[in-house]
Amino acid sequence: MDKNTALYIHIPFCKRKCAYCDFPSFAGKESLMLDYTKALCEEIDYRVDKKIDTIFIGGGTPTYLSLEALKLLKNSMDKLDKSKDLEFTAEGNPESFSIEKLQLFKEMGVNRLSIGLQASQDTLLKALDRVHNLEQFLKAYNSARELGFKNINVDLMFGLPNQTVEQWKETLEKVADLGVEHISCYSLIIEEGTPFYKMNSKGKLLLPEEESERQMYEYAIEFLKSKGYEQYEISNFAKKGLECRHNMIYWNLEDYYGCGSGASSYLNSIRYRNTDSIEKYIYMMEEKNNACIEEHKNSTEDDMEEFMFMGLRKLKGISEKEFEERFSVPIEYIYNKVINKFTNNKLLIREKGRLYLSKEGIQLSNQVMCEFIL
Ligand code: SF4
Repeated sequence: MDKNTALYIHIPFCKRKCAYCDFPSFAGKESLMLDYTKALCEEIDYRVDKKIDTIFIGGGTPTYLSLEALKLLKNSMDKLDKSKDLEFTAEGNPESFSIEKLQLFKEMGVNRLSIGLQASQDTLLKALDRVHNLEQFLKAYNSARELGFKNINVDLMFGLPNQTVEQWKETLEKVADLGVEHISCYSLIIEEGTPFYKMNSKGKLLLPEEESERQMYEYAIEFLKSKGYEQYEISNFAKKGLECRHNMIYWNLEDYYGCGSGASSYLNSIRYRNTDSIEKYIYMMEEKNNACIEEHKNSTEDDMEEFMFMGLRKLKGISEKEFEERFSVPIEYIYNKVINKFTNNKLLIREKGRLYLSKEGIQLSNQVMCEFIL
């Protein structure tokens, strides 16, 4: 059977940078949108030569791309060899999900939307420097439903400055009550080089105590379960059968193309990374038809490590049989010591041929995963 292959498409434009964001995305570069999209389409047309099972247009803010540029992208999407049951996600921010863009997504074959809300309180959104409010989110969500989008994810964040456990509960309730199919809940990480990093080093960021953050995460798990969402990955919850197949390809260490500035690919155990710079990306595509600045052939050890720490993100964990089939060696030969350590202290559970994090292990997942580095 053919391997599943995914395609990630990066749109690096944002209306404004959020205060916590260290993604390869830029504000104030709208004049490059059209040239960038032309270069992006060239990369897609030139590189992607396998049947595609899932597509994810992410960013940045894909919905911030002009209609003209999105139309160009549609031409490239139309040319791809796509699976019959393709999952095709487009991500965006509430204020830029216009009816015209939603309609164009439909025509493009998009069947899953991912909307970045983060929090339902406008005060928190403002403090994050987000460009939208709750009302705009609801408007975008309702328009998407009216246009027939049946699979919608909403991105949320907890552990925000000044966020109370009560506010987090309110956000979860509002979103779950809408009946969205999928919810991602990420804890805020203060990344170097962001405005939040600076503010935090000056003691100007009032972050919730570790204990409140733990409570927020635990509440999300329990509450979402009671609303019919199954937690299938550390930060992801879905109604039955509506897990994000695109992300599963990453967590299963399967092949994916990444096109656009800052995008990475993983193909036949080789990792490729494109330049982050939009200008350089356009230039490299024009000059060499290639914007890759880094290529790394994974060793078997690299693949084993990645298989483990990506796989353990899934609540189902990894299959020992799959490990053996993939690497031609039983998992105990490589990881006996670490498996014993974490099964003894009950952070890992080993049963029915699978290895997965326990409830306590999920809370300490970074600590566990680090030890799978060879
Ligand atoms: S919208 Fe997303 S990508 Fe853009 S700055 Fe905010 S968090 Fe970063």
